[in-house]
Amino acid sequence: MKKLEEYVRSIPDFPEKGIIFRDVTSVLQDADGLHLAINEMDKCLEGIDYDVVVGPESRGFIFGVPIAYNNHKAFVPVRKKGKLPCETISCDYDLEYGKATIEMHKDSIKPGQKVVIIDDLIATGGTTEAIIKLVEELGGVVVKVVFLMELKGLKGREKLNGYDVDAVIQYE
Ligand code: IMP
Repeated sequence: MKKLEEYVRSIPDFPEKGIIFRDVTSVLQDADGLHLAINEMDKCLEGIDYDVVVGPESRGFIFGVPIAYNNHKAFVPVRKKGKLPCETISCDYDLEYGKATIEMHKDSIKPGQKVVIIDDLIATGGTTEAIIKLVEELGGVVVKVVFLMELKGLKGREKLNGYDVDAVIQYE
């Protein structure tokens, strides 16, 4: 059986020159790749006590929902501005290439709930830092952050100092 890393396709100069894009679609489109990815991310949560999985649009949904479902936990989506229908809180942040605003429903996390954040990849850490701000503003407690991939050179982990962070695959 292939190793998980071997399912990830690396695309040079996408979406901009100089960036190597780590493509997760090549993992998802293979049944073994998808299985391995979810199982390896799930293993990072062994022994963790939590109530809710929070995942950002859109690849955080892909990995977050099966993990929440497997463990009988709730799933809360973090969405781009203007997509959620009820009362929201929002946070602006910088991306590796560009800017963005994310939102969560005000009633999505109850004060004191233990939260796991799941996403496909950490680059600069800006997205996750913004998600943590929103979760904490709602009174949630971030007990773990799990990524499929980490681009170590961008030092995203430094933004998440003090949090328990795991990544299944690491790129220098
Ligand atoms: P950060 O906020 O800089 O850590 O960027 C992380 C976000 O950008 C994640 O939600 C990723 O889905 C996306 N992203 C950044 N670089 C890549 C990449 O090389 N492959 C896939 N997604 C990426």
